[in-house]
Amino acid sequence: MRRLDGEAGPTGRMQILDTLIVGGGISGLAVAHALRLQRASRECELWESTDRLGGTIGTDRAEGYSIDWGPNGFLDREPLTLQLVDEIGLRDQLEPANPRSGKRFIAKNGRLHPVPLSAASMFFTALLSPLEKARVFCEPFIPARREDSDESIYDFAARRIGRAAAETFIDPMVSGIFGGVARQLSLPACFPVMREMEIRYGGLVKALVARQWQRRRASGRNGKVKKKVGGPAGPGGHLTSFKTGIDVLTQRLAAHLSPIIRKNRQVVCAWRGENGWQIMDHKGTTAQCRNLVLACPAYAAAQILKDFDRELSEALSEIPYAPIIVVATGHRRSEVRHSLDGFGFLIPRNQGMRTLGSIWTSSIFEARAPEGFVQFRTMLGGAGDPTVMELSDDQIWRTLWRELDSLIGVAEDPAFIRIYRWPRGIPQFVLGHRERRDRIERRVACHPGLFLVGNAYYGVGLNDCVKMAYQVAGRIN
Ligand SMILES: Cc1cc2nc3c(=O)[nH]c(=O)nc-3n(C[C@H](O)[C@H](O)[C@H](O)COP(=O)(O)OP(=O)(O)OC[C@H]3O[C@@H](n4cnc5c(N)ncnc54)[C@H](O)[C@@H]3O)c2cc1C
Repeated sequence: MRRLDGEAGPTGRMQILDTLIVGGGISGLAVAHALRLQRASRECELWESTDRLGGTIGTDRAEGYSIDWGPNGFLDREPLTLQLVDEIGLRDQLEPANPRSGKRFIAKNGRLHPVPLSAASMFFTALLSPLEKARVFCEPFIPARREDSDESIYDFAARRIGRAAAETFIDPMVSGIFGGVARQLSLPACFPVMREMEIRYGGLVKALVARQWQRRRASGRNGKVKKKVGGPAGPGGHLTSFKTGIDVLTQRLAAHLSPIIRKNRQVVCAWRGENGWQIMDHKGTTAQCRNLVLACPAYAAAQILKDFDRELSEALSEIPYAPIIVVATGHRRSEVRHSLDGFGFLIPRNQGMRTLGSIWTSSIFEARAPEGFVQFRTMLGGAGDPTVMELSDDQIWRTLWRELDSLIGVAEDPAFIRIYRWPRGIPQFVLGHRERRDRIERRVACHPGLFLVGNAYYGVGLNDCVKMAYQVAGRIN
């Protein structure tokens, strides 16, 4: 066990800080930004292990393409993300998704079918048999589950809308959002709003009707119709990015915070002693601080705290991550058969394909491909297909091309290809996640000045990270 109290690094000088933030992804950058606004004079630093800021957020610009490596946008429903955008002067750079890209598809039996978004389209969809549709329409009559024990997303969906609809709609949605397996992920941890809707209103359809009714009443009182916010997965929102790519957000934050950012500093351990937190990086440089914010992935936080609090470290290391491969391809428009009149498609796992789904990036945002070309971002892997990481670039493209070609018709040689591998891409809120999170929080509460932030705890999206970052910054005194 390593004890740091009183030790200095190889330079013989221990740096003394008020707050040290570990990790320069959106979570760490947003905490640093919020702290800077709150209390400009206090000494704060952000240490990032690599030589770039942004973590999973990044954009490459090459040969006329603008390619997001990880996230390609966020829903404009989180006020704190929009506040952050305003505070760093990026409001005029925002780019909402093209409204014409609203249509989404699901692949079934070798064809793409539009996702039914209304009762009428559900009635006519070819994605389910008449019996399976009848089961979906029974949803309002299915009693609510009263016990509060954990339940998988698949079990919840199968119970409410039937197994066929769960496999056709919910399973691909879960792989699209979490890179996860619907039978493994916890509904109350991943979609707490859905669980609340069931408890409060007795079912999803009843909840939607009640909410619509409430909105109408509210708009009647205010004399105007409020924008629609709501859907079975929680509040709605419009997919939004920035005009030249999502990394505009993290690049601007990094530029604003450059005086306090230290790159190539991987924190290897942290310890709380008499004088607050002692931290050491991989070169043996040490620092002492009052507040330590771990804004790195849960497995990295587990490693940092391993010798300090074994129980906390173990709970953090139990949060699994799914591997994801993002394949960005460019194609001559004339060499793609499909009209690309939508957002893209998802593939249910029972279709025997390896592709999770494909986003038609250049149909969603402007200037993502050169004139006469289109860009797709296709996802492979996920928690259900961990061996995907062993595939070579060539094997990845061969697999993907066969599947893409069968669904939308693409030429064998793409005009452009980049492959991004994320061995530990997205944290998985598996069954038991809430209890694990409670255990983590109980241990963190024992250590004054320790804060955890990131996508491993309350939500995996960019909005969740920003929201948690502002909350954590507000608790740091
Ligand atoms: C393929 C993919 C697609 C996604 N799509 C979307 C999407 O469309 N919309 C959306 O909202 N979200 C999406 N997400 C999720 C979103 O990208 C993440 O939730 C978010 O970017 C996580 O930010 P973070 O700062 O918490 O973590 P990270 O981005 O992982 O950043 C953590 C940082 O900590 C650093 N670090 C690690 N260990 C140490 C250490 N010991 N010392 C110092 N630094 C350390 C890392 O180098 C990294 O820079 C996607 C994720 C992936 C992988």
